[in-house]
Amino acid sequence: MVIDVHYHFMVSVNETVAKRMVASFIMPTAKKLGMTPDPEALAKTVLETWADPAGEFLIKSMDEGGIDVTVAVTTDNFDNKMLTREDVEKSVKLLSEVSGRNPGRIFPLAGLDPRRPEAADMAKRFFEEYGIKGIKYHPDNGYDPSGRESYKVLEVLAEHKGVLLTHTSPLMPPSRNHLAEPMLLSATGVDFPQIKVIAAHMNGYVNWRPWASLAAMQPRLYGDLAMWDNLAYTHYDVFCRELRTMIDLIGPNKILFGSDAPIDTLLHPIRHWVQQIRNLTEKAPAGIRFTQEEVDAILGGNASRVLGLNK
Ligand SMILES: [Zn+2]
Repeated sequence: MVIDVHYHFMVSVNETVAKRMVASFIMPTAKKLGMTPDPEALAKTVLETWADPAGEFLIKSMDEGGIDVTVAVTTDNFDNKMLTREDVEKSVKLLSEVSGRNPGRIFPLAGLDPRRPEAADMAKRFFEEYGIKGIKYHPDNGYDPSGRESYKVLEVLAEHKGVLLTHTSPLMPPSRNHLAEPMLLSATGVDFPQIKVIAAHMNGYVNWRPWASLAAMQPRLYGDLAMWDNLAYTHYDVFCRELRTMIDLIGPNKILFGSDAPIDTLLHPIRHWVQQIRNLTEKAPAGIRFTQEEVDAILGGNASRVLGLNK
């Protein structure tokens, strides 16, 4: 079973945003990967595939990539005044409809910025009316996941036995990266010990150890491998070494497969990323070995347990 715990479900993308994403994020990544795509063509693909209100592209890409279950998230950012409460609710509603039409395949999480004055009420509605399974945070937008505003949302989340997927790992400005420090999840682990928390990116492949040091101590803290594909594509040996070290230090059970699709998979289809993980048993460099059990746990076994899918 392959489970992707990090997919961005989007209902609309405008041309300006598409061009800016390509210029500021995709092209620099392409350069690192030694690829020279045409930015115009990429922007066109973004417009045609990222805006996916009916989830058709999502399901198609899961089928092509061999993904059984996807944790799909919407996003929210209270600083973006163009993004209204109505927009946020509409995305969540559409995602819940996609989930309803594809039973057992989509695990929907609602992006919610706890700085919205109505955030707790919104969260309650998302669970009770739309049947969502958890919340997605991007604290680097400007809030503390262990702050007072967040706690009002986490109370609702705990009550509904939801999962929290929260961004960790530095990003370019305007991200306020001190708010995405994994250690801020220590307090949430004390005050809401029942909530399963997935730290997106495990604080990134450059600095995963702060996350690992906390995950080793905090029973319900996990992490996902989204964005690590870029390390695997450029330096497979380093990718294998870091992942091996992580497993040797804290075990394989906290590490979940994630793609950051369709953003991070624009240059490489998701099946390539799945294959990089599958290849670990055979293609890791000399002196580094992975077992099939470890690979299976990372690709889906761990997520299945965390999301409660094997009940
Ligand atoms: Zn993401």
